Amino acid sequence: MSSDFLLIDGAAGEGGGQILRSALSLSMLSGRAFRIERIRAGRERPGLLRQHLTAVQAAADLCAAEVEGAQAGSQTLAFRPGPIRAGDWHWSIGTAGSCTLVLQTVLPALWHAPAPSRVRIEGGTHNPAAPPADFLQRAWLPLLAGIGLHADLRLLRHGFYPAGGGAIEVTVTPAATLTPLRLEQRGTLRSTGAEALFAALPAGIAERELAEVARRLGWPAESLKLRGLPAERGPGNALLLTLEHEALTEVFTAYGERGVSAETVARRVSNTAARYLASRAAVGPYLADQLLLPLALAGGHFTTVEPSAHTRSNLDVIRQFLPDLRIGFDEIGPDLWRIHAAPPA
Ligand code: AMP
Repeated sequence: MSSDFLLIDGAAGEGGGQILRSALSLSMLSGRAFRIERIRAGRERPGLLRQHLTAVQAAADLCAAEVEGAQAGSQTLAFRPGPIRAGDWHWSIGTAGSCTLVLQTVLPALWHAPAPSRVRIEGGTHNPAAPPADFLQRAWLPLLAGIGLHADLRLLRHGFYPAGGGAIEVTVTPAATLTPLRLEQRGTLRSTGAEALFAALPAGIAERELAEVARRLGWPAESLKLRGLPAERGPGNALLLTLEHEALTEVFTAYGERGVSAETVARRVSNTAARYLASRAAVGPYLADQLLLPLALAGGHFTTVEPSAHTRSNLDVIRQFLPDLRIGFDEIGPDLWRIHAAPPA
């Protein structure tokens, strides 16, 4: 393929799969071809895994792209997009790789497709190191709906690591005009809820997690929910904390792991929630990096805690594809940052 390719370093900054996924999204939106090298070079299993390959395949399907290097373990990929097409799409990851990360790769393009689309993705829906489906439903998508980016996500079946077997279905409406995102303060706390999901594991694990959350955060019994799932969905355990404020809802998640006590799982996620509650930021660290691309599209600003490595790397990728966009962040107080974007003047 020729030399008009934007060259992306897959190992820069955070160095994870997000650099590849954001590059795919931005390439489809901008029409700009790219070549990425050193994909996930510093990771334990470097290069393209099933989740990344599915994201590449999905992006290629959407815009009939020319692709080189889409093989398992490949650390180099070249991608030349064509025009975005709407459709009824179905992608299966084939492992417990994250459905939500594949979805986030294609959504920006589908919002710019000429007609509505339907997407079904099979794989993991509740994976460590990825947004659980509930996070997209309760936190990410409602904020995007507020700026004119609409998608309706249904969780058809839970899929946990390592078994997978989950499924999501999403209907996407193309965006008309976008309203800038303006999220300065989260406003007053309206409700809190802790949900312990478990499948093919003793209910006692989930009960202990909820008890520990209640003890640490002082949440009342009526905000604790035990959710047993069919055994064939397991083994799996996720602990979700949902905090609804006036301006947005945040969701923090931890996963049960072999060798890690229920109390430790609960402590980890309680600490994350407590740090968020102690800050004045509207947006927590995960939502922050996932809002950047929509922010680049709509303009606006939001406040958040100190930008994570994911946020910084994602910003770098966005700047490479959209050099005329003014996007950046400022520290405006203790553990308080403002991330802002404005289209070229
Ligand atoms: P990567 O590690 O590069 O594949 O990117 C992982 C993505 O998953 C980033 O956008 C993170 O913000 C997101 N993520 C990881 N853990 C969580 C979590 N517990 N809740 C929500 N999003 C998450």
